[in-house]
Amino acid sequence: MSVGWLRACALVMLGLFSVTALAKDKTAIVIGGGLSGLTAAYELQNKGWQVTLLEAKPSLGGRSGMATSEWIGNDKTQPVLNKYVSTFKLGTTPAPEFVRTPGYLIDGEYFSAADLATKQPATADALKRYQKTLDDLARSIDDPQNPAATATLHALDQINVSSWLDKQNLPATARQLINQDIRTHYDEPSRLSLLYFAQQNRVYRGISDRDLRASRLVGGSQVLAQAFVKQIKTIKTNSPVSAITQDKDGVTVKVGSVGYQADYVVLAVPLRALNKIALTPALDAQHLAAIKGTNYGWRDQIMLKFKTPVWESKARMSGEIYSNAGLGMLWIEPALKGGANVVINLSGDNARVMQAFGDKQMVDQVLIRLHAFYPQARGSFTGYEIRRYSTDPSMGGAYLAFGPGQISKFWRLWERPLQRVAFAGEHTDTLYPGTLEGALRTGQRAASQVEDLAAGKSFEPAKVVPAAAAAGAAGAVAAKKGNFFSNLFGGSDDDKKPEPVKAPEPAPAPVAPAPAPTPAPAPAPVEAPKPATPVKAEPAKKAAAKPAAKKPAAKTEAKKTAAKPAAKKAEPAKKPATKPAPAATTDTKAQ
Ligand SMILES: Cc1cc2nc3c(=O)[nH]c(=O)nc-3n(C[C@H](O)[C@H](O)[C@H](O)COP(=O)(O)OP(=O)(O)OC[C@H]3O[C@@H](n4cnc5c(N)ncnc54)[C@H](O)[C@@H]3O)c2cc1C
Repeated sequence: MSVGWLRACALVMLGLFSVTALAKDKTAIVIGGGLSGLTAAYELQNKGWQVTLLEAKPSLGGRSGMATSEWIGNDKTQPVLNKYVSTFKLGTTPAPEFVRTPGYLIDGEYFSAADLATKQPATADALKRYQKTLDDLARSIDDPQNPAATATLHALDQINVSSWLDKQNLPATARQLINQDIRTHYDEPSRLSLLYFAQQNRVYRGISDRDLRASRLVGGSQVLAQAFVKQIKTIKTNSPVSAITQDKDGVTVKVGSVGYQADYVVLAVPLRALNKIALTPALDAQHLAAIKGTNYGWRDQIMLKFKTPVWESKARMSGEIYSNAGLGMLWIEPALKGGANVVINLSGDNARVMQAFGDKQMVDQVLIRLHAFYPQARGSFTGYEIRRYSTDPSMGGAYLAFGPGQISKFWRLWERPLQRVAFAGEHTDTLYPGTLEGALRTGQRAASQVEDLAAGKSFEPAKVVPAAAAAGAAGAVAAKKGNFFSNLFGGSDDDKKPEPVKAPEPAPAPVAPAPAPTPAPAPAPVEAPKPATPVKAEPAKKAAAKPAAKKPAAKTEAKKTAAKPAAKKAEPAKKPATKPAPAATTDTKAQ
């Protein structure tokens, strides 16, 4: 055998060994099988990590919609979503022109946006005036990543959206429609921080309906979730995580009595669900306060199914329709599977008061209202589906909707990993919370943070304007006449330009913290965090047997990589890649 041949063999062996070592070192657990967790798992796996995804429910996809056909923006407005749609070759159809703008159901009569201008000019004008005032507010934010950049803007965080609307003297119908729009996309205006509302409008400022509703994703966001699921090798459904323990060597994640170990964790569950997971070491007071206090919007969805459309099909009623009469936002589905569906979105306080009702009672209430406008409704009704996100303990709300004072306290809090745990989920996105785009972005961000952590990078907290400066300035700014602030409340004329927002003033001596947010009762009953418990030693057989006994709905065990046995032999004290941890290994790691 030639020397060259021997050298080549040695190099190959060396290569294999280092790949093995690399693979052994790269293990991650992703907790939560919504779109953020699925993205994180997919991206990490693509980068060579051995990933185990743990999902509490029997199925995957989390809050991804019940609608079977969902609007998506074009790649200018939702680049990450569009990237995955094209990677997975998912079907889209261009949105027809007539559904790109919202419609209105006013006292039972349907109006397109164009109809409204001619048939209800007072309402249409008031909506325009409101849009202009809102746009003034939005454009005063230079950087939506740092909305509280000045004391004036920071002061907006103390105000709720309802108080701001009150000052605009809107006619009753316009106000009802505006309330409905805001509670559908965020939450009840009285529970929403004006700064958050302004920041979100800044993010979408100048984007046309055409760009935002460019096409329909055929099958809805569930098809996207399923496309990720097909790619991810190890998914364990019916696996609610109850505890996470980290130490200098790794992380142990508990599901019932089974422990899973890995180097890093992506925690992709909503805040209310996070409240049920015991973390060791425990979270600090700010994180705990955010978990309990951050406001979530309330939005329940009921899909009513009919034999044929009971609404005026001639009006081509479709897309988002805002009702002023107790029906929330209606979403008319194209009849992809035959029949005719309408998804009724009950949101904000209107939905909160319905929480005492059972599903059937709630459906009856909605059907009664729809029947009042469309008398064929009862006769044509064939069934329903319902999703109550806020009373579902694994979700606890529809999506993040910062309440008054909460940007000051919690802005970008979850963007920073804590030791070996990176956070994902729509609520951790700065620009697009409450959306698919936001969820996907955070999955990507968390995956790259895990890579960075593995490379030894540390993360500093995001910088925010100290609350002290803003709280001190708020009163002074509000007291001035004819300035940006008073224009905000008085509505704005076309010739009035908002006063440019001044540069932040240097923070004086610390003053009182921002006022407490408007109390918003936690949507779902939440338990106090359980005291963190170290993972108990389980007999190895028992630990291994448990997960095997549960048949995951999605996928079963990953195909084993060649690296594992080698890793075990080389370093017996180290964990196998995110597999249920045998007792001895768990003990080693849990110290
Ligand atoms: C009614 C409604 C309509 C919407 N409409 C749109 C829309 O039209 N367009 C748009 O872009 N976005 C929309 N969204 C927002 C979008 O659906 C969400 O932003 C996105 O699905 C959130 O994904 P996520 O991964 O952050 O969270 P989730 O989907 O909630 O995923 C979290 C997962 O974690 C699991 N979990 C919780 N606790 C545990 C635990 N202890 N152990 C293991 N797993 C756990 C949960 O079961 C869940 O599967 C809508 C949302 C709602 C509620």
